[in-house]
Amino acid sequence: FLHIQQLKKTYEQQTVFENVTLSLQKGELLSLIGPSGTGKSTFLRCLAGLEGITKGEIKIDGKDMSNVRAEARPVVLMFQQPLLFPHMTVLENVTYGLRIRGIKKKERNEAGLAVLEKVELKDYGNQYPSECSGGQQQRIALARALVIKPQLLLLDEPFSSLDTKLRINLRSWIRSLLKKENMTAVFVTHDRDEASFMGDKLAVMGNKTILQTGSPKEVQERPESSSVTGVTGEGL
Ligand code: ATP
Ligand code: MG
Repeated sequence: FLHIQQLKKTYEQQTVFENVTLSLQKGELLSLIGPSGTGKSTFLRCLAGLEGITKGEIKIDGKDMSNVRAEARPVVLMFQQPLLFPHMTVLENVTYGLRIRGIKKKERNEAGLAVLEKVELKDYGNQYPSECSGGQQQRIALARALVIKPQLLLLDEPFSSLDTKLRINLRSWIRSLLKKENMTAVFVTHDRDEASFMGDKLAVMGNKTILQTGSPKEVQERPESSSVTGVTGEGL
């Protein structure tokens, strides 16, 4: 469903990553883990089309993305900070993506309420983001992403600003929702437990490429190099 072939990204002379080849089936969740500065966020921005690629190919559902600009891609990128508009209500925030796509108010509010129900915030539509907790704000951001029915969801350390208890609750909850929706997603985190928990597959980034991809168990039990062990830890 998602096919990435020999992807390379450079900034001026500096190579961020190269030889990145990866496939995901529809509905599969990939966790991406690796040291700071190895290019995880850059990789997601390339998938979302917010960043050009230097070499290689990205295909989503059989379609080559090289000439598809960011707005037209069936992809949503969610950041660490939810970045909600403070002057808009929760429902207006959630339906923003539909508004800029020219969807009529009645229709987009219906879609917005349906997706708010999915994230269990049905009664929060008329509140403002500042009246919601950090975890609720992340769920609003997720609703805003899901409302446009993306085929690929990219999550860049979505829980890193939340406390441990909330992270653990939210990760189970998000995983079940994504599974229920049969959503294909790439999830970046620094947290090994979180990566193993969230991913059907785990990919380890380092030394300017993806070092290993496999089931979380496989990658941890049979690391292909010491660089992988450096990231996933020993004896986990
Ligand atoms: P972290 O775990 O800290 O979030 P990361 O793996 O997400 O790190 P990136 O943010 O993708 O890493 O950065 C990868 C490399 O690309 C870094 O060396 C960074 O300096 C470089 N880089 C990122 N964005 C740009 C840019 N717009 N111009 C030039 N270099 C950049
Ligand atoms: Mg990053």
